Amino acid sequence: MSDGAVLHVRGRVLVGPEDVRDELWVVDGLVTFSRPTAVGLGAGAEPGSGSGSASGSRDVRTVEGWVLPGLVDAHCHVGLDAHGAVDAATSEKQAITDRDTGTLLIRDAGSAADTRWIDEREDLPRIIRAGRHIARTRRYIRNYAHEIEPGDLAAYVRAEARRGDGWVKLVGDWIDREHGDLTACWPGDALAEAIAAAHEEGARVTAHCFAAESLPDLLAAGIDCVEHATGLTEELIPVFAERGVAIVPTLVNIATFPQLAAGGEAKFPAWAAHMRRLHERRYDTVGAAHDAGIPIYVGTDAGGSLAHGLVAEEVAELVKAGLDPAEALSAASWGARAWLGRPGLEEGAPADFVVYAEDPRADVRVLADPRLVVLRGRPVA
Ligand SMILES: [Zn+2]
Repeated sequence: MSDGAVLHVRGRVLVGPEDVRDELWVVDGLVTFSRPTAVGLGAGAEPGSGSGSASGSRDVRTVEGWVLPGLVDAHCHVGLDAHGAVDAATSEKQAITDRDTGTLLIRDAGSAADTRWIDEREDLPRIIRAGRHIARTRRYIRNYAHEIEPGDLAAYVRAEARRGDGWVKLVGDWIDREHGDLTACWPGDALAEAIAAAHEEGARVTAHCFAAESLPDLLAAGIDCVEHATGLTEELIPVFAERGVAIVPTLVNIATFPQLAAGGEAKFPAWAAHMRRLHERRYDTVGAAHDAGIPIYVGTDAGGSLAHGLVAEEVAELVKAGLDPAEALSAASWGARAWLGRPGLEEGAPADFVVYAEDPRADVRVLADPRLVVLRGRPVA
């Protein structure tokens, strides 16, 4: 939008799953539900995306459709590829791919690159960083993490809490090659000290966990969120629910487990069998977590081996797991924003939203084809 221009969106503005308004306006980059005074009645606005005529002292562009707050990818990695940190040009491409699919708020679940420069870029999504992954020595993907031993965990967690934007990311379990299977990476006392340190710094802690075995110590230590969470069991689910520990299932990523298992079968048959079991029950696991009331958020795990821009697919996966479409949408919009402490479509909030041609509550596949993406009040895609 040029300076002084006004964007008028009309149709169905989904302020919340049940809170639907007829229109919103964007003035000076902010959302308002009151017609700006310098703007006329907007006669002659065309359906779809089009420029209205000048009216009053401001140009008005009118767009019609169903409006959602900017989508949230709560598990995404910008600045990372399968081999580690990438350069700024590659990071920029990743962020633009996410943006163009409607993802305007990213919780970066660990990156080896310093992407702080993105905060200066008005045209790129907002990022909430978890710093760099913290893993046990030789127990994670090469070049990704600080690889350390338990005695140093609290100090590293405190440092990443200060570097990040309110989150710290641990690798809670990984294959133990001597053991030939997934095992927990950290003793309980080290976790308790480290998570207390993060909380003292005002940061929340999340952990990558595939297996069930890593979860009790993390729960006891006060973990705030678990990534993947394929190991949730009948015994653990009520504890997660009672404590409000969120999960980000990353089902698009979990779909690759059989492939991973096949690759590691010869050397690590027990691990491969374990991964297959976790994969087979993935929808039941997420469905049971949801039924128990565990908060669930959308995360694509883009940026390691997975491509960016898969938010629509992950929402569809959650529907497959048993969330109804409005709940799955909330996991990528209203609910996720509230969880991360960022506004949705509120009076005076930054105008970050996505317009669709059809109702995404009726069919979440609509998310794959946004009509217009508006970031900080400017149409960007
Ligand atoms: Zn990840």
